[in-house]
Amino acid sequence: MNQVIIVTGGSRGIGAATARLAADRGYAVCVNYHHNQTAAEAVVDAIEGKGGRAIAVAADVGVEADVTHLFQTVDQTLGTVTALVNNAGVLEQQMRVEQMNAARLNRIFQTNITGCFLCAREAVRRMSTRHGGAGGAIVNVSSGAAKLGSPGEYVDYAASKGAIDTMTIGLAREVADEGIRVNAVRPGFIYTDIHASGGEPNRVERVKEFVPMKRGGRPEEVAIAILWLLSDEASYSTGAFIDLTGGK
Ligand code: NAP
Repeated sequence: MNQVIIVTGGSRGIGAATARLAADRGYAVCVNYHHNQTAAEAVVDAIEGKGGRAIAVAADVGVEADVTHLFQTVDQTLGTVTALVNNAGVLEQQMRVEQMNAARLNRIFQTNITGCFLCAREAVRRMSTRHGGAGGAIVNVSSGAAKLGSPGEYVDYAASKGAIDTMTIGLAREVADEGIRVNAVRPGFIYTDIHASGGEPNRVERVKEFVPMKRGGRPEEVAIAILWLLSDEASYSTGAFIDLTGGK
């Protein structure tokens, strides 16, 4: 079967590493991005340079019309999606809960929670045997923050990842006998650009001493777990989590 993957937020960081590894494993890849077209096209170029197949599609995962357009574009160019990585995620400036306003909370929840639901909805509509689909796999990118809570930094972000953990369990059970597996990874402190959004680009260097392995993680170390959960080697895993946190 033609393997077609959509990686949301595939232009940078964990998503870009996942897109590249998926192409190495033979998937046709949709690299979704929000603003950074240059970075998304660089991922596509790297995949095509190795003989793979990829497209870059702009869509805000928190906007329903964008998500519909994203999946329709993939239908028309790569074929029916067989794997979805719900990776797009954001955080904002570090602050305590008593400083947070509704606009900030809604931005975080819209991308991290609503975006994940909307993309999962479109994937299930195409993959589920209930709708005539041939099955598929979904991996949600949660965070170790879901268990740690991120006090003093971004409890809102951590809570959004807690929601993703619950969604992973619920959706996995909802579609388990429809040919779809739904799992999640929980990365810890990974070297990507996301920490700059919190106002601390070098955050991993500060916090790594609290990690039992005494180091941050690389995006590729997360990508390999995502690709395993998507693969047939994980055929009896659903509603499951892999922590990539160096022991934290
Ligand atoms: P990153 O380097 O900041 O990259 C974020 C990616 O998401 C970019 O491709 C960005 O697109 C895209 N994106 C942001 N908002 C979007 C939206 N509304 N719609 C579509 N795409 C959107 O992030 P990362 O560190 O690789 O994080 C990836 C995932 O891992 C996130 O869910 C994050 O919460 C999770 N995670 C990260 C860490 C860590 O330490 N890095 C730890 C635990 C969990 P543009 O390039 O167009 O902006």
